[in-house]
Amino acid sequence: MLANSLVELDRQHLIHPLSSFRGHERGGVRVLRSAKGATLTDSEGHRLLDGFAGLWCVNAGYGHESIVEAAAEQMRRLPYATGYFDLGAEPAIRLAAELAERSPGDLDHVYFTLGGSDAVDSTVRFIRYYNHARGTPEKDQFISLAQGFHGSSTVGAGLTALPGFHAGFGVPFDWQHKISSHYVYRNPVGQDPEAIIAASVAELRAKVEELGPERVAAFYAEPIQGSGGVLVPPPGWTKAMAATCRELGILFVADEVITAFGRTGPLFACEDEGIVPDFITIAKGLTSGYAPLGAVLMADHVYQVIADGAGEALIGHGYTYSGHPVSAAVGLAVLKLYEDGLLDNGRRAGERLMAGLTGLAEHPLVGDVRGRGMLAAIELVTDKARKTPLPAACEPSKRIFDRAYRAGLIVRAFGNGAIGFAPPLCCTGEEIDEMIGRTRRVLDETLDDPDVRAAM
Ligand code: PMP
Repeated sequence: MLANSLVELDRQHLIHPLSSFRGHERGGVRVLRSAKGATLTDSEGHRLLDGFAGLWCVNAGYGHESIVEAAAEQMRRLPYATGYFDLGAEPAIRLAAELAERSPGDLDHVYFTLGGSDAVDSTVRFIRYYNHARGTPEKDQFISLAQGFHGSSTVGAGLTALPGFHAGFGVPFDWQHKISSHYVYRNPVGQDPEAIIAASVAELRAKVEELGPERVAAFYAEPIQGSGGVLVPPPGWTKAMAATCRELGILFVADEVITAFGRTGPLFACEDEGIVPDFITIAKGLTSGYAPLGAVLMADHVYQVIADGAGEALIGHGYTYSGHPVSAAVGLAVLKLYEDGLLDNGRRAGERLMAGLTGLAEHPLVGDVRGRGMLAAIELVTDKARKTPLPAACEPSKRIFDRAYRAGLIVRAFGNGAIGFAPPLCCTGEEIDEMIGRTRRVLDETLDDPDVRAAM
């Protein structure tokens, strides 16, 4: 089929995630056709370096035969098995055991979902059930962070705090509350790490006090806020917040949908801080995007309360595709790749990425460079001293994405003028250097944009 008829069919029938319906009708789709390693090819034959690993997920890169084979073999043998009625299949059982083995502390119990949003939803259901089981059902208030992202389901979107996810959707619910992000570059208390940590801890305490400590169930945070613009907390921030939760009798959920599986270096970003949350949510890198799969890792002390409280009663939470055998087989194949050198390569490539981006700090438009490992962003401003964001008239998310695409690079162009990077962990040093070079071109072209000039 010709690409242009695909474009027309797409315009007429396919609703794209996170899109403007009318904008999409005007702009149309760019059709991606194939990929290998970190390089994508579109339907017009353009080759693009994928600086964003699909959507922060294709950590292993494209075209791994071992993953393809694992999926094909599982499809031939047993393409589907329900987990209901105490039935099961080998891949999900093995993958759960591998994850329990590798996750920090007593996060020994695994509940599989299809992706990150339903993993987040599942934590909310389990936490409510946990509090019901321990006789504290009034603990039903949930706190998350400004600039946080926790999915697109109704519950997850309510925990999310990004423009566009609330208005018109009837969320957040009145039991979902927010406190400020650490957002180091723009923190009102300045950039001193200790001051930021103290301010966040104080705000969490104040929010719990306001709601009533006996009513607060859980606090959610990403170890690095991804969709909010790759916001990296100061070292020790997550540890301090987790300790505060423990002290206040609140569960701490680390949403590692982006950060797990080597994005920041280790398998779980929580390892960077040496903490053991009560729950970790994962997805994306779990299968490297080759098949949909997410999971909740649940601490043993939570599991035991739920198990004791429920006794023989069924816990009514289940998806048709929980622990899908094909996705789980893919997960096992991907886990092997992490251990056979992918994590190590990601660490090396991450150092090169951060060094390369730091080298762009001198560019007149670059106000901030931040990141850890293979998860990074630069934030563009029109005035470095005042940290003035690019005005909306510059259409940062559209124009920067388009410029990068023309330069042969996929990046995440955020609405505030930040550019996000999350390349596959398999990238070579040369590919990282090439990404940096292409980014410099994007910055130069952005500097030539008359709307940007006018704002400077
Ligand atoms: N949590 C976080 C931290 C995420 O980044 C995302 C997706 N970007 C989600 C949850 C939702 O995951 P999914 O899109 O797989 O539902």
